[in-house]
Amino acid sequence: GLTGRLQNVFSKLRGKGKVSEDDVNEAMREVRLALLEADVNFKVVKEFVAKVKEKSIGKEVMDSFTPGMIIIDIVNKELTELMGGSQAKLAKANKGPTVIMMVGLQGAGKTTTSAKLAKLLQKQNSRPLLVAADIYRPAAIKQLEVLGEQIKVPVFSLGDKVSPVEIAKQGLQHAKDNGNDYLIVDTAGRLHIDEELMEELRQIHTEVNPDEVLLVVDAMTGQDAVNVADNFNTQLTLTGVVLTKLDGDTRGGAALSVKAVTGCPIKFAALGEKIDALEPFHPERMASRILGMGDMLSLIEKAQSNIDVEKAKEMERKMRNAEFTFDDFLEQMDQVKKLGPLDQIMDMIPGMGKMKQAKDLKVDDKQMGRIEAIVYSMTKQEKQHPEMIDHKRRKRIATGSGTNIAEVNRLIKQFDEMRRMMKQFSDMMGPKGPKGKAM
Ligand code: GDP
Ligand code: MG
Repeated sequence: GLTGRLQNVFSKLRGKGKVSEDDVNEAMREVRLALLEADVNFKVVKEFVAKVKEKSIGKEVMDSFTPGMIIIDIVNKELTELMGGSQAKLAKANKGPTVIMMVGLQGAGKTTTSAKLAKLLQKQNSRPLLVAADIYRPAAIKQLEVLGEQIKVPVFSLGDKVSPVEIAKQGLQHAKDNGNDYLIVDTAGRLHIDEELMEELRQIHTEVNPDEVLLVVDAMTGQDAVNVADNFNTQLTLTGVVLTKLDGDTRGGAALSVKAVTGCPIKFAALGEKIDALEPFHPERMASRILGMGDMLSLIEKAQSNIDVEKAKEMERKMRNAEFTFDDFLEQMDQVKKLGPLDQIMDMIPGMGKMKQAKDLKVDDKQMGRIEAIVYSMTKQEKQHPEMIDHKRRKRIATGSGTNIAEVNRLIKQFDEMRRMMKQFSDMMGPKGPKGKAM
């Protein structure tokens, strides 16, 4: 897949202490192929690669200490930009219900997504009303009613004998009368775009004057999804896109091209058939997912609600200045433990998933206890200055902690590596970390 291919390109770069213009060219050739194979629009690929190349072949990058990391960071930032830069929020009406019209081809996921969105809004203490305006597909109304029942959101319908325009109009009135703050209109789709469908959508649009026109597209269809989006957008100005079926074997083409081609931001991503499998789309998270950087930002968010921010800031400063000691290590282990089962946490940290698979690094909660025992057997001085721990001291620590010298050696080696990695990582993330948050 795309992630695997990109990781290969980058692991080649990362290993290099110096990066030449040829190396960058070679890497960009491979990035280009990987993106094309992932079904990203060729124009988008061309511009993307040109941009990354331009930024990478600079003196500051090539002469830097970690050129590979900087290039990965450039790619990450450009991918994020490509997908809109930052999260595109749902519009809110100044007065009366916020009207959201869901449009798209048949089977894209409009009805399912309408219900998912209602659930999401309900969780934010809103009172959405769903409107069943697909009178053509057999059982479409029933489908929405069942979903509404399931999430306890009311569904407005007038059966399939009344025109969708009339249903939408009366639905809006119903929302106003009942104090619903969101109106989600589920419309009909066709297998292909046709004039009749567009005309009906335009009429509904005129009738309810939506704050959002969300196009629902199946991410599995790659560039076809982008063509559909382009087409809809010229006929019925869209305000956003919802990408569905991202849980499947999607190649990434739709996510990476749709904003660049249509100018419409992706507002939500659907990752499954379940009713709560819808989330606001975060370009930066998608980019790091594509790059296989782990879900670093989710981890940071999780950490922020569990970790002492002041302490984390102090840690970050220490890492940056390479002042990180075994005392800090212990404290950090404490903090990490608060986040949940260790192997889950590890999966979210860049590179850690791979490291975990390596035979010599088995990290689990039991292993953590042994590691702690080793660190506790160090003297105050040793913890502050790990470089002073020579062979004789290692033997003493092994005995004191009830472990063995091989384990002590391994921990000290890993600690050194970790210090180096943290330094590299914090350099890569810039002076303030991602999005300027402390971590
Ligand atoms: P509509 O014709 O556009 O209204 O599409 P539906 O909402 O009826 O969905 C069509 C099919 O796609 C249904 O079987 C849904 O369960 C499925 N579906 C919708 N969204 C997702 C998703 O994000 N992931 C997966 N795996 N299936 C989805
Ligand atoms: Mg439907």
